[in-house]
Amino acid sequence: AKNDVDQQTIALEKSVSEVRRANTDLADQKFALDQHSIVAITDVKGDITFTNEKFQQISGYSGEELLGKNHRFLTSGFHDDDFFKDMYLCIGKGEVWHGDICNKAKDGELYWLDTTIVPSMKNGKPQSYIAIRSDITERKANEMELIEAKDIAENAALSKSEFLASMSHEIRTPINGVLGMLGLLTKSELDKDQRHKTSLAISSAESLLFLINDILDFSKVDAGKLELEMLDFNLRTQLGIFAGAMALRAQEKGLELILDVTGIKHSMVVGDPSRIRQVLTNLVGNAIKFTESGEVVIRTELKDEGDNNLTFHASIIDTGIGIPADKIDNLFESFTQVDASTTRQFGGTGLGLAIVKKLVELMQGSIHVSSESGQGSQFEFSIPLQLSTQSQQVIPQVDIAALKLLVVDDNATNREVLRGQLESWGAKVVLADSGAVALALCQQCLDEGRALFDVAFLDMQMPFMDGAQLGQVLRKNNSFDNMKMIMMTSMSQRGDAQYFADLGFVAYFPKPVTTSDLFDALAVVADDGEALRTAQPLLTQHYVKSLNRHDSVDRQSAWPADVRILLVEDNNINQEVALGMLKEIGLTADTANDGKEALAALNNTLVDSPYTLILMDCQMPIMDGYSTAKAIRAGQGGQYYCDITMLALTANAMSGDKQKCLDAGMNDYLSKPINPDDLVIILEKWLCVHDISVINPDAPLLDRRLQEEHVPEADQVIEANTELEIWDEQAALKRMSGKPKTLVRIAELYLNTVPAEFAAVKAAMEADDRSGLHELAHKIKGIAGHLSAMQLCHIAQRLEVMATAQQTNSIELKSLCTQLQDAHELVCIRIQSFLKLQK
Ligand code: ADP
Repeated sequence: AKNDVDQQTIALEKSVSEVRRANTDLADQKFALDQHSIVAITDVKGDITFTNEKFQQISGYSGEELLGKNHRFLTSGFHDDDFFKDMYLCIGKGEVWHGDICNKAKDGELYWLDTTIVPSMKNGKPQSYIAIRSDITERKANEMELIEAKDIAENAALSKSEFLASMSHEIRTPINGVLGMLGLLTKSELDKDQRHKTSLAISSAESLLFLINDILDFSKVDAGKLELEMLDFNLRTQLGIFAGAMALRAQEKGLELILDVTGIKHSMVVGDPSRIRQVLTNLVGNAIKFTESGEVVIRTELKDEGDNNLTFHASIIDTGIGIPADKIDNLFESFTQVDASTTRQFGGTGLGLAIVKKLVELMQGSIHVSSESGQGSQFEFSIPLQLSTQSQQVIPQVDIAALKLLVVDDNATNREVLRGQLESWGAKVVLADSGAVALALCQQCLDEGRALFDVAFLDMQMPFMDGAQLGQVLRKNNSFDNMKMIMMTSMSQRGDAQYFADLGFVAYFPKPVTTSDLFDALAVVADDGEALRTAQPLLTQHYVKSLNRHDSVDRQSAWPADVRILLVEDNNINQEVALGMLKEIGLTADTANDGKEALAALNNTLVDSPYTLILMDCQMPIMDGYSTAKAIRAGQGGQYYCDITMLALTANAMSGDKQKCLDAGMNDYLSKPINPDDLVIILEKWLCVHDISVINPDAPLLDRRLQEEHVPEADQVIEANTELEIWDEQAALKRMSGKPKTLVRIAELYLNTVPAEFAAVKAAMEADDRSGLHELAHKIKGIAGHLSAMQLCHIAQRLEVMATAQQTNSIELKSLCTQLQDAHELVCIRIQSFLKLQK
C-alpha cells in the first residue's frame, strides 16, 4: 500500500510540475502577446472585463476607466450599425471574427485596428469575447491617401476629356473659318503670287487640322471616349473606295498602288468600317510617304474561323526607305519618329502609328511590323470581324470560266494580283510583262491556229510601248478584231473616255483595280450586242464616281428644283463659309442665328416655297441644335416640318456625338471643318432621294390635276379613275430637274422598295388594322405623287381617307386595296420598260 501511495505522490508531483510549467509557458506567451498586441476581454454583452496596457495606451483611457464600460463607448461613428450587427452575429455563433475597426480615443483621435475576436465557449455558448488587435492607423492613412489621389487623378482625366471635347469644338470652329475662306479665295481671281500664298496658307491650315485630329484621336482612345461601331458593311467595296482615294497620292509620286482582295471571299461583314479605314489610311499613307519609287501593295485576306467569326488580315508592303532594326521596337509609341531629318523631309507628328496600334487593340486585334533598312517595310494587322447575315460570296454575274484573258502590265505584283482574282473566278489567264510580249503572244495564237484571247487588260503606263500604243497596234490588225481591249490607267482626266474609245477600247478604269471594276468590265464582254456597237467606252462605276467628284459644273443643275435650305448657325464666319460652299455647288440657303430664329423661320414660311432641308449647327447660344431638332420633330416649327430632313453640323468629334445628334432627331451628321466633297455627298444623299421611303408624303409634289381634285367623300362610289395616267413619265422627269439619271435611280428604287409596302398593306388588310392602312396609303400616295404615278396616287389618296372613315366597310376597303395593287403592278410594268430603254 505504501508503494501505491508513493507512486501516486510521484505522479501528483509530476503533474503539479507539469501544470506549473504550463502556467509559466502561458505567462510567457501572455507577456509576449501583450508586447505585440492590443488585448481586451468583454462579457457577452460587450462590457469590458479586461484590457492590457497597449489597449490603454492607444485608447488613452486607464484600466479603471475602461473596466465595466461597454466597448461601444469607443466607437468612432465610422462604421454603420450593420457592421456591428454582422460582427455580433458571427461571434454570437461561436465563430472567430476578423476585420478592420476604426475606434475613437479619449482625445478624440481616430485609430484603426486590425482585429480578431475569439469567443470563449462553455457548453456550446460564448461566455466572453477575447479581442486581439494591431494598430494599423498609419497603413489606413496611406490607403486613404491613395484612394484620394486616385479620385483626384480620375477627376483630372475626366476633366481632361471634357476639356478635349470643348477644345475640339473651339479649335475646329476657327479652322473651319480659315479653311473655308481660303477655299473660297482660291475660287476667285488671284494673281500668281496671291495664288501661291493662298495655297501655302491652305496647306498650313490643313496640317494644323491633321495635327489636332491626331491629338484628339489619341487622347480619345486614352480617355476611353472612343466607341466602336458594329455595322454591316461591304468589305470589298470599302477597300476599293479606300484604295481609290489613296491612288492619287501614289500617282503623284509615280508609285504603283496595288490592292489585292483575292483573299476576300465574303463581301458583307460586321465591324467598324471607319476605324478600319483609319488604320489603313495611316499605314498606307506612311507607306506612300516613305517610298520614293516602286510599289505599295495592300494585300488582304478574310479567314473563316467558323461560327460566323472571321479574321481580317491586311499587309501593307512598300519598297521604301525601311526602318532600322534598332528603331522597330518602340515604333508604335507616341511621338516616335525614326529620325528628326525624316520628319523635316516628310512631315508628320509621330502619332500615327501609336493611334493605329491603339485602334487595332481596341478592335481586339494585333499589329506587327517587319522591315529591312533600304528595302522597304511591311505592316501587318489582324482584326476579328463577324460574318454578316447579308453576306454573299463574291462571284461575277458573267460566266468567265469560259474566257481566255490576257493581262499586260510591266508591274509583276499587279500582274499576279489580277491573275489571282481572275483565276479565282475560273478564267484562264495569260500574263505579259510588256507590249512586245503581248503582241508576240497574240501572234502565236494566230500562227498555231489556237483561239485568241477574249479580253485583254492593258496597263497604260508601261515603258517602251504604253497601253495606248499597244492598243493601236492591235486594232490595226484585223485578225485581232474579236479580242476586246480594256484599259487600266492611273491617270484620271476628263476626255480620256473619248480618247480611249477612239483607240478601240471597250472599257477602262483607274488603278488600283477593284473587284467591281473587273465585274463591270467583264460585263461588257458578256453583253456583246447593243452596248458594244454604240461603244462609248464603258466607264466602270468606280470611275464614274471618281469623275463625278470633280464635276461641280454638272452638278449645278442636278439638284431637284424645289430645294430650299435653312442654315442654322451662330458663327458669322461659318455661316459665310457654308453659304459660299453651297453657292459653289449651285445652292443657296436662308440663315438663322440660333434655334429660336430657326423655329420662327419655319413657322413663317410661305406655303408655296417650303424648306426641304435644314443644316443645323449643334453648339449655339439661346437654343442649341439638339433642342432645336427635338422641338422641330415635336411640331414646334409647324406640323408640316415634323419630318423635314435635318443634317447636323458639329465640331465635336467625341464619341457619342453622332448618337446625340441622331437621338435629337437629326437624320445625318457632318463634322466641321466642313469638307466640300463631304457636303456634296451628304446633300446628294438627302436631297436627291436615294431612298424613296423618305419622301415626305405631305410635300407639295402632287400633280396639279390631283391637287385640284376634291378629296373623295367616304360614301362616294369607289371606282378607279381610269382617265388618269398610269405613269406620267414626262412630269416625273421634270420633277427630277430633267435628269434622266435621277429618274432611273428613283424608278429603280421604286421597284426595289415599294413592293414591301404592298406586302404591309396586305397584312394590315388581313388584320383589319385601319390606322395601319391609313398610314401606308398616306406613304404610298407620297411616293406615287413624287413619281407622277397618277392612278396609283389617286387610289392611295382614297384609301387614306376611307381607311379611317367610320362608315367604310371591309368589302369597300378590300376593293380599294385590290385596285391599289393593280395600279402598282401597272406602274411596275411601265417602269420596267422605261428602265430597259434607258440601258
Ligand atoms: P508620322 O506622323 O511621323 O508618320 P507615325 O507614327 O505614323 O508618325 O510614324 C512614325 C515613324 O515611323 C515615321 O516618322 C517613320 O520614321 C517611321 N515609319 C512609319 N511607317 C514607315 C514606312 N512604311 N517606312 C519607313 N518608315 C516608316
